[in-house]
Amino acid sequence: MRYVSTRGSAPTLGFADVLLAGLADDGGLYVPESWPTLPPTWREAAERGYAAAAVEVMWPFVEGALDRATFEAIVADAYACFDTPEVVPLVPLDGDVYLAELYRGPTLAFKDVALQLVGRLFDHELARRGGRVTVLGATSGDTGSAAIEALRDRAAVDCVILHPHGRVSEVQRRQMTTVDAPNVFNVAVEGTFDDCQDLVKAAFADGAFRDAVHLTAVNSINWARVMAQIVYYVTTAAIFGGRPVRFVVPTGNFGNVYAGWGARAMGLPVERLVVASNRNDILTRAFHTGTMALDGVVPTLSPSMDIQVSSNFERLLFELAGRDGAATAAQLARFRTAGSVELTEAQRRGIDTHFEAARCDDEGTLAVIRDVHDRHGLLVDPHTAVGIAAARSVPGPAGTPTIVLATAHPAKFPDAVERATGVRPALPDRLADLFERPERCTTLPNDLAAVERFVSAAVRTN
Ligand SMILES: *Cc1c(COP(=O)(O)O)cnc(C)c1O
Repeated sequence: MRYVSTRGSAPTLGFADVLLAGLADDGGLYVPESWPTLPPTWREAAERGYAAAAVEVMWPFVEGALDRATFEAIVADAYACFDTPEVVPLVPLDGDVYLAELYRGPTLAFKDVALQLVGRLFDHELARRGGRVTVLGATSGDTGSAAIEALRDRAAVDCVILHPHGRVSEVQRRQMTTVDAPNVFNVAVEGTFDDCQDLVKAAFADGAFRDAVHLTAVNSINWARVMAQIVYYVTTAAIFGGRPVRFVVPTGNFGNVYAGWGARAMGLPVERLVVASNRNDILTRAFHTGTMALDGVVPTLSPSMDIQVSSNFERLLFELAGRDGAATAAQLARFRTAGSVELTEAQRRGIDTHFEAARCDDEGTLAVIRDVHDRHGLLVDPHTAVGIAAARSVPGPAGTPTIVLATAHPAKFPDAVERATGVRPALPDRLADLFERPERCTTLPNDLAAVERFVSAAVRTN
């Protein structure tokens, strides 16, 4: 399998290069040159378990980069650390609506599903090439811990995560700082999340530093993350025996729902994909009006969806522009300059055929958390609640199973859940002593030179 850039002018690459590259060097995102079709045995594969299905679904994307037995071993190892043998269990909610619990991994959020695999693939490829890298990232809370858990103790990777000092929740901070691994370094920056992001960008722009420590990232535009997310669309749809199903996806950067698009492109019977937004609703507005227009970001109870521009949306724009990279690059350039851009007729048609969108504000989010608890005795997190609200406001045809992707464990957002229900959700047993574990973290000023000095001294280069 070769991969092409959404902006049409970067070289096509194989899987291993795409894995390590992240962004294409024309600024675009890599997508497969063509979508493979699901093996005819996809339902049987799902019955054999998550890891078996994962290998079947992903093999055409990685074939040629590693041998089958190695891939099987990596996949099995990645999904052995989840809380349940199903990895992504499906639980009924009401009527035709089900929840797919994507939060049974080490850090209790859906990013584990992709990152547990990608961390291992990274390490394998670096060992093969004989190199090592430093992953540098900034987090407002959630992604940092998922990256740390995915990269901890990996031989060829050091991981440095910046978070804004005093501005992440205590659970989030402790999920990062209590990880006892020699290759994990937490930095609390005296500044905001934006300051942390600016420091990361500046470090990547400093060529001498970047080369000296072999900087890289595992952010949400990495193709391998999208690939790993296709799998749970297949395993959950398989439960319905080949009937078309509707998926509802709490959306931020559009990585998760784009994986659903990929599953459909591979032949999975998907009735519609429903994009669920909180008040930061650029996508919902674009889907309803045909114009993608920037608006300021407002903080909400579902912070992992508080985004200005959904980076992975570029992949869908490219597909719906007939895979014309030059046209996609021009459209995005107009968006960057003007802050808004019209979707083309073909893009609007594609969106109308395959998607729906709905938004839910904080008040609605709390109402759903309360209602689900009252009626089902079930606690859901605010991101999942935005999804349930969307499932209710744009219901599918009668009898079509609707699968809401539950993207975080309620205990990850205990304040919102308690505010809605009066019940403080408990952490799973394996994390019950999180508040007693020792923390390891270095506080630094909001200063590039200080951060670069720290990273250079901390990481292993050779
Ligand atoms: C990252 C995240 C999302 C958004 O997913 P995207 O792939 O960025 O659209 C939703 N919910 C939670 C809990 C997340 O961590």
